[in-house]
Amino acid sequence: RAEHRVVLITGATSGIGLAIAKRFAAAGCAVAVHGVESEDDATPAMAKIAGVGGKAHYFHADLADPAQSRDLVARVADTFGTIDVLVNNAGIQKVAAVDELDPSDWHRIIAVSLDSAYYTIRAALPEMKRKDWGRIINISSAHGLRASPYKSAYVATKHGVVGLTKTVALEVAETGITVNAICPGYVHTPLVATQVADQARLRKMDEDAVIRDIMLAPQPSKRFVRAEEIAEMAHYLTGDLARSITGAAISIDGGWTAK
Ligand code: NAD
Repeated sequence: RAEHRVVLITGATSGIGLAIAKRFAAAGCAVAVHGVESEDDATPAMAKIAGVGGKAHYFHADLADPAQSRDLVARVADTFGTIDVLVNNAGIQKVAAVDELDPSDWHRIIAVSLDSAYYTIRAALPEMKRKDWGRIINISSAHGLRASPYKSAYVATKHGVVGLTKTVALEVAETGITVNAICPGYVHTPLVATQVADQARLRKMDEDAVIRDIMLAPQPSKRFVRAEEIAEMAHYLTGDLARSITGAAISIDGGWTAK
């Protein structure tokens, strides 16, 4: 039954992932909350999730490490018995010109959101196939469909996530499993706050001007998307009436990719 589903969300201690965790907790699901923070540092996020209901458990893993990505699904299955819904949300960002981007940052960005999605999908899929039901939701970005300067690793990663999503969707199209990407425009989260500061430094502008003229320049609505809007779509995709939505890259971007 929908309210008894087990949902793993990576990067769920903050921002979009936290909003998604709260949405599934409110629906009564068992929520496996993943983060890179220590148990102590994850306590405030866990309290917010517990505050809305459901059953939540915290799983620490550094997804830059392939072994920890590989193990995460098994650890969640050990605790909750299974995984019905996998949300690959963890992601990091670095703003730098391509010839100034440190190779370690390039590899870390790709490891945390693209490689880790491959590892978690690979680990979760056999059990979903056995049950003939599953939902995989990968949080890509408007940058999975469009580029911006100074974000080579991030844009490459997010395009890669869309490609991975489409391919896995085709591989399981005849089963009860769907695989989709959500492509948000700018959502006001800690990740975006860091970018505003980085861009302000790089472009020698003040932060308000960066928000208005740089960050929201590509977003025709001129409003940040709210994390709850992403969470609602993720929850919708897990419903049985969403069973024919698969292999899609769903934009929630205030019109960004309409241009
Ligand atoms: P955030 O910075 O608020 O949260 C990032 C999460 O990733 C945290 O829970 C953190 O624990 C986790 N994380 C960071 N490094 C990790 C590591 N090494 N291993 C494991 N987990 C790690 O970010 P957010 O803005 O909520 O973004 C969440 C996702 O949404 C990301 O994939 C991001 O690219 C994507 N996204 C964000 C926006 C936006 O405007 N905020 C827009 C489009 C897409």
